[in-house]
Amino acid sequence: MTIIRSGRFAHVDAKVLILSIGPMSRTVLREMNKTVKISKMENKQPVIVERSGHAVSRKHIDPDALKVLYRLYRHGFKGYLVGGAVRDILLGKSPKDFDVATDARPGQIKKLFANCFLIGRRFRLAHIRFRGGKIIEVATFRKEPDEAEEVETESPERNNTFGDPVSDAFRRDITINGLFYDISNFSIIDFVGGLSDIERERVCIIGDPHERYTEDPVRILRVLRHAARLNFSIEEKTASAVASHRHLLMQCSGARLFEELNKDLNSGFSSSVFQLFHKFCVMSCLLGKVGAYFEDTPGASEKLFELLGVADAAAVSGKKLSQDIIYTLLFWYWTEHVIASDTSREQDKVKLLGDAFLALDMTIVIPKSLKAGIIQTSCILDRMYAAMRTSRMRWSLKKRARYTDASIAFSIIEKSRILPAKDPFEEIFREKYPSAPGRYTRRRSRKKKRQA
Ligand code: ATP
Ligand code: MG
Repeated sequence: MTIIRSGRFAHVDAKVLILSIGPMSRTVLREMNKTVKISKMENKQPVIVERSGHAVSRKHIDPDALKVLYRLYRHGFKGYLVGGAVRDILLGKSPKDFDVATDARPGQIKKLFANCFLIGRRFRLAHIRFRGGKIIEVATFRKEPDEAEEVETESPERNNTFGDPVSDAFRRDITINGLFYDISNFSIIDFVGGLSDIERERVCIIGDPHERYTEDPVRILRVLRHAARLNFSIEEKTASAVASHRHLLMQCSGARLFEELNKDLNSGFSSSVFQLFHKFCVMSCLLGKVGAYFEDTPGASEKLFELLGVADAAAVSGKKLSQDIIYTLLFWYWTEHVIASDTSREQDKVKLLGDAFLALDMTIVIPKSLKAGIIQTSCILDRMYAAMRTSRMRWSLKKRARYTDASIAFSIIEKSRILPAKDPFEEIFREKYPSAPGRYTRRRSRKKKRQA
């Protein structure tokens, strides 16, 4: 690789270089493949927008992130604000987190910050911790590693996935996430066309969609997520490659996909995100038969989007729903369908749903406790629906740990909002059956019977 990066060869056409080297070993060939990629990048001149030409001001940046950027800069390193923070500030939104990229190596970063903790084994990241649990993540510029390199590299400090600003921009997912804000002169550096895509309001993968989705299929979710959140269009090739690559999601780590899904379910944009998941038939790749149910059953997905819309409104107003409620809502139309299609009606519903979950073929891995929560909440919901049909409610269910969650979920499903009552289900039930027996009537009468 060094022959390529030394200035003289940096822009030489790969074919010319191959001819000049003569017969090649596999290692040299691998180097040549890198040459093509690297020369492509280095030929790319960045668009640099000076301070006066853009909207990112230091007052938009978290003061602790600014401290980190300045400290790096004062010690002779590059300090760039990167990723979602630059994108969001340019779009007039408040960033969720502030990530920093630098040419300082992890060891050097650690020496600069007493409150620094290095994490990660293969690629070491620095977490600079501040008061209130705030963390500013500082990463050394890196490049997309070759498979061979990943295997060969043992020591993280000698990790040759380190790169420079150009390679760091090109290894990112979408163009609007590949922008840098340089603390040395407050300019924005754009190697990847992110500024024009912000202008055009579109999400575009960096590089060849086939390569980038194959390297990391989670990028498919990220493309859909950002398009949904920002209400941006998706560039044609970025969109069309989703259909041919979405199956790769099924090879991803289930735990990672669960984390990704949680980000969307808690974002306040889950309804729009799921509408795109549905449009691009990604739901079945994540949720197995549950996803297939929503993809194949007319009208089911629309009902789901409505439930998620209520959860989003709650998240935006600061009243985030519990994970149990959100997942119960996500699965509800499927669980309801499973219970309704059990013709025997003999089976214990907890067992029925437990067995149905086992046969789901989901790619995401849901923790056992959450699965139990979904099943129990759904079973109470089912009871509530039975009570609405028959006017008879078993009020002892109130003692169950999941009753309150079920009551809120019931209100969301039935009323498309969360009633402010302490027990929304009871309020809805009493509205329909004002003279139904009170919650302790049955127990008291049994006691009286025994005394008699
Ligand atoms: P959010 O507003 O959700 O934080 P974000 O774009 O900042 O959005 P992060 O998950 O915080 O998302 O990631 C930070 C940055 O890291 C991204 O902006 C992107 O540049 C890069 N990144 C994250 N995941 C990937 C990936 N799978 N492939 C390539 N680059 C990625
Ligand atoms: Mg972020």
